[in-house]
Amino acid sequence: MPARPFPPLTPGQTTLLVDKSQSWGLAHGLVMYPPGFVLSLATVAPLTLFPTPFPKQAFEQALAVQQTFNRLYTLVASSKGWIESISKDLSAFDPDFTGKLYTAYEQALAAGIVQPLLMGLFRLDYMVHSATNQIKQIEFNTVSVLFGGLSSKVADLHRFLNALGAYTADGSEYYPRESLPTSASLKELGAGLVDGDEAYRQQQKLPSTTATCIVMVTQPGERNVFDQRHVEYAVGEAVAGAERPFLPVHRTTLQLVLSDTLIDARQRLVWTATGQEVSVVYYRSGYSPDDYPEAGCWEARLRLEALLAIKCPLLLTQLAGAKKIQQILTTREEVRRFLPAEDDASVDGLLLTFVAIYPLDDSPRGAEAKRLALTEPHRFVLKPQREGGGNNVYKENIPGFLKQLPEREWAGYILMELISPPEFNNVIVRGEDVHRDPIISELGVFGTTVFNEQSGEVLTNRTGGWLLRSKFSSSDEGGVAAGFGCVDSVYLYE
Ligand code: ADP
Ligand code: MG
Repeated sequence: MPARPFPPLTPGQTTLLVDKSQSWGLAHGLVMYPPGFVLSLATVAPLTLFPTPFPKQAFEQALAVQQTFNRLYTLVASSKGWIESISKDLSAFDPDFTGKLYTAYEQALAAGIVQPLLMGLFRLDYMVHSATNQIKQIEFNTVSVLFGGLSSKVADLHRFLNALGAYTADGSEYYPRESLPTSASLKELGAGLVDGDEAYRQQQKLPSTTATCIVMVTQPGERNVFDQRHVEYAVGEAVAGAERPFLPVHRTTLQLVLSDTLIDARQRLVWTATGQEVSVVYYRSGYSPDDYPEAGCWEARLRLEALLAIKCPLLLTQLAGAKKIQQILTTREEVRRFLPAEDDASVDGLLLTFVAIYPLDDSPRGAEAKRLALTEPHRFVLKPQREGGGNNVYKENIPGFLKQLPEREWAGYILMELISPPEFNNVIVRGEDVHRDPIISELGVFGTTVFNEQSGEVLTNRTGGWLLRSKFSSSDEGGVAAGFGCVDSVYLYE
């Protein structure tokens, strides 16, 4: 069935729908703190009133390839020599961040990294390319992935509004129920963290009565707290009823983590206030230079790196999420090098999600990319080795940007073909503002894994639900927390 248009509601019906969505959001924790917040007052996260049409086949394909991608990236992250040499090269171009991450890794290595278990809570971001309706990869995130919590909530909200009949004048359901899937992301991220804890408990042969805990390292003044709290509560729910102690998630920051914890003689990390052994250090910060305003933050990162607690992620896993690595992995030969035993269909499935990404270096492909960047910039986005939004250079701005840099520094960037997603006139509700404007959407698929890099054993590998984020098509970037996007869900059509 082709996509149905958005429900034709009168302004009065739309006002009622806004009222219902805001109440549901507050009642179910689809919320964030506003700027300058106090603890007791949250606001509904920016959201769309309707689910956004998304081709079913593209959606299913994105979910289908996730476990292969999890495998690929754990293997990349544990290919030490390879990733070390690339990170070292990138450090020269980005000494302020990639360089510091890599130095912290080298220092931790010198101190002796004692934990061979590697953990990933990943999110792969895609857009649908409208000319072909194919799913195309934007980026692979290996650190601090957001919105696993709120994503499940907003999909539930849209399903609720549909079931309620709020999308029609006569109270009937507008969308076929099966076209509005739930997102397991919240539950799955919780389960992924519990997988890490269980792996640690088994490895350390902890008696079933011994309590462990997870430490979540967040940004000071974080406003997207509830997305994180939902994951914390999902961890609790995943272990409730099991023959084991409760699994608390303690919150701290890079500034405070070393004073909140003790390190014992066996390199175990202990949460001081409760005396519980820390099984997993889960970073919801640490992905941008702003997260390390003091030398103490780097000190904390590298101290934790060497300890027994499992890090989600390790520094090398974080570095594996570099845009440069994504560029290198767009060829069949490179994918095959990491996945020699994978069947052809799976490898083809990965490759189908790639658009062209070029290096801007001295190679023949680099020379071609330099020509394209200067002569056909409208087809491309230029990306540095940074995360978290606001760093990319788009289209016609590329030539001017490159020309003000010495050419030898261009190799620190990648040139990526632009994906052109379809536009839809959904309604975005942000606080008291209600806008009906063309939006474009980005699908995120979560994945979780625990891997032993010494033995090569994959302990767990899960597809972890999905997220749809939308933004006005007039804005190039879509960070929800940064204030120019919103959470959304999919309406699947064939
Ligand atoms: P970051 O690490 O800052 O999140 P991304 O690679 O995700 O960087 O890019 C940020 C945003 O830019 C994306 O969310 C998307 O909206 C847009 N974008 C990035 N790459 C492309 C592309 N190839 N085509 C279209 N839009 C893109
Ligand atoms: Mg991104």
